[in-house]
Amino acid sequence: MKYASVVFDTLIKKPLDYSISEELTQEIKIGTQVEVLVRGHQRTGYVFAIKEHTDYPHVLPIKKIISSEALSSDLLTLALWMSNYYCAPLSQVVKCMLPSSVRKDIQPQQQIFLTSDMPKKKLRDLSLELTQKHPAQALVLSTFLTSKKGIFLQDLLMKTGVSKSPIDSLIKKKIFKEQKIFLDLPLENYFLSEPKKLNEEQQKALKTIAQDIERKIFATHLLFGVTGSGKTEVYLHAIQKVLDQKQKVILLVPEVALTSQTIERFKTRFHNKLAVLHHKKSHGERSHSWKEIFQGNVDIVIGARSAVFSPLPDLGLIILDEEHDLSYKQTEEPPTYHARQVAIMRAKIASCPIILGSATPSFETFYNAEHHKHILSTLSQRANKAPLCKVQLIDMRLERMKNQSSYFSEALLEGIKKRYTQGEQTILFLNRRGFHNFLICQKCSSVVQCPHCDLSLTYHKKAHLLRCHSCGYHIVPLEKCPSCSSREHFEYKGFGTEHVEAALHKIFPDIRTLRMDRDTTSKKDSHDQLFKEFRAGKADVLIGTQMVVKGFHFPSVTLVGVLNTDGALHIPDFRSSEYVFQLLTQVAGRAGRADLLGEVLIQTYMPENSTIQQVKDQDYRSFYQFEMENRKSFSYPPYTHMVKIQFSGSDEKNIRHDAALFRKVMIEKLPKNMIIHPVIPSGRYRVNNIFRLFFIIRTKNIVHTTRLLQEVKEKFSLTKDNKLLIDIDPVSTYF
Ligand code: ADP
Ligand code: ZN
Ligand code: ZN
Repeated sequence: MKYASVVFDTLIKKPLDYSISEELTQEIKIGTQVEVLVRGHQRTGYVFAIKEHTDYPHVLPIKKIISSEALSSDLLTLALWMSNYYCAPLSQVVKCMLPSSVRKDIQPQQQIFLTSDMPKKKLRDLSLELTQKHPAQALVLSTFLTSKKGIFLQDLLMKTGVSKSPIDSLIKKKIFKEQKIFLDLPLENYFLSEPKKLNEEQQKALKTIAQDIERKIFATHLLFGVTGSGKTEVYLHAIQKVLDQKQKVILLVPEVALTSQTIERFKTRFHNKLAVLHHKKSHGERSHSWKEIFQGNVDIVIGARSAVFSPLPDLGLIILDEEHDLSYKQTEEPPTYHARQVAIMRAKIASCPIILGSATPSFETFYNAEHHKHILSTLSQRANKAPLCKVQLIDMRLERMKNQSSYFSEALLEGIKKRYTQGEQTILFLNRRGFHNFLICQKCSSVVQCPHCDLSLTYHKKAHLLRCHSCGYHIVPLEKCPSCSSREHFEYKGFGTEHVEAALHKIFPDIRTLRMDRDTTSKKDSHDQLFKEFRAGKADVLIGTQMVVKGFHFPSVTLVGVLNTDGALHIPDFRSSEYVFQLLTQVAGRAGRADLLGEVLIQTYMPENSTIQQVKDQDYRSFYQFEMENRKSFSYPPYTHMVKIQFSGSDEKNIRHDAALFRKVMIEKLPKNMIIHPVIPSGRYRVNNIFRLFFIIRTKNIVHTTRLLQEVKEKFSLTKDNKLLIDIDPVSTYF
């Protein structure tokens, strides 16, 4: 008799043993999704180990197999590692890996496309013939005839209102032909584009990577190349190598870079089966993609963070583009994984190389490259030999004295005007949306706050609302101060994208603008649509938040203006400078990517700040060295690991109590040389009436620390309704 350890994706945290009956022995493998009884209830779980013995005296049998295409053994090995490293129950990790549609076994809607080889005339005659005896079939045929080339089965069913059987009969009679449409590929094929001839640096990088692809060994490669240096071109060549040896590839990109422009670049190069994993997909589409990928029918998977769990067999390469991007980290729920770390582990398990690409690598990654844990390849020039653009700082303190507008410096306005008269384009970046950031009473100094969050309300002019950017609460703008009832001292302050757009129109009445922020991109595809319009020259200026930074290439943009970033540098987090440097370098990279020379203007109230100065010089290495001195002397990552232990709940006193108690237990357990920070409120202490506190542990031995944490967590009884989140290697020590 054999036994299976079964792990669940529901509240049951521990795996349980079940016996495998004679007839199921052949079919049950690691990863098979099965149905079993747990305390009298039917549950689904996944086989994660098969063994000859069990320590339990009364094991129940596995009732039946639900799916053999849920998890591969590679993924289960990965899940085990994640469960340990991220201090999360295996059940939660499995839940995070599998799309809910796969877990619940939602059947994909069949996307069947019906065509016919018969001439139209013949079909019309047939339809008439069938009218008497088989009216439903006749109706189906006449409806089919209204389509051009063919029709989706779903559409045909909906238009005719008949059941599927008349259609089946027509298929049986060979009048209709069924064609299963692969959901991720649009019907039309792209014309293939030729690979580019790589320049010397690109060739050298490719050669280094290709060796590991051919030898099928694990190694982490860092492709460090300035924006526009042709990193993507190197990925494309590397992918070709993998496909040539009949293996498969995962390509991870930041969520906002998952645009049609990015995808087209891959689709036009390879006619292989390619799946794009969007979070906008329906459940049916997702479970269909998952199965197709599992069966080995997909050669290339492109997706954001969670695509790292795609169940590809024969994995030959993983690529993680923009590896420094924060969207790779899951922060709100366990497991608090980082796709970079998980991807590296996945590559190790699959025995294949992985490429991390960036113009501004995270310090963790660059540190590993310097210490030869990663293999470094550098692309130091833009692929088309275009010089990197000039970055100029503008001291807004001086501007304030000489001109009225508090948003635009003279130089920036001159620059915009010049581009606009020459038919070139400008991007304006600022990290605030809305019209005014807050409403303040100059008499009593009170600011209008969200009643549920520690955040001031932002004025949105078009909607004519005061809105909370955290919880969505909104009200009609107030007429008088809620504290002192003053009317005349009530003023709007600060500016967001909406205001900048309006101000620009006041200065240049004919200027054409597009705005891109969360307010203008809430609809599906609107993000893509805006970019297409801008690229097609439908506007002179694109005004936007972080969203404008990634995944796009605009040949006619020759000026990038940064309106404000000082705020981000004031965030008390040891990584603030690193993040600002990355962001501004990316923003600056949008300018002058084709043959036109680019210019970048950064407006700041602190031009002497060292980070701002280093952005100006665009010298990553010297920035890295400078910052690493600090990291080293304060024992911050990457010299240590951090763990953030966060408590949240609706009662302030209760979470304080839990946090203090947990911390006390940890202090008793942990060795003396570990640093345990005090409990502090999160930078956004109250969101939607939920309060958050945390404390940080700094440790050199992360494995030991997580093991202790796991022990303490299991025994710790949280006050009812409070939540505990363990965030390993957190990306923020402020929020
Ligand atoms: P990155 O990914 O580093 O930002 P890309 O791969 O997007 O850079 O390359 C920037 C531009 O240079 C693209 O338009 C690309 O087609 C072009 N390019 C890249 N490599 C070459 C090459 N070897 N020869 C000519 N053009 C190239
Ligand atoms: Zn007041
Ligand atoms: Zn709110």
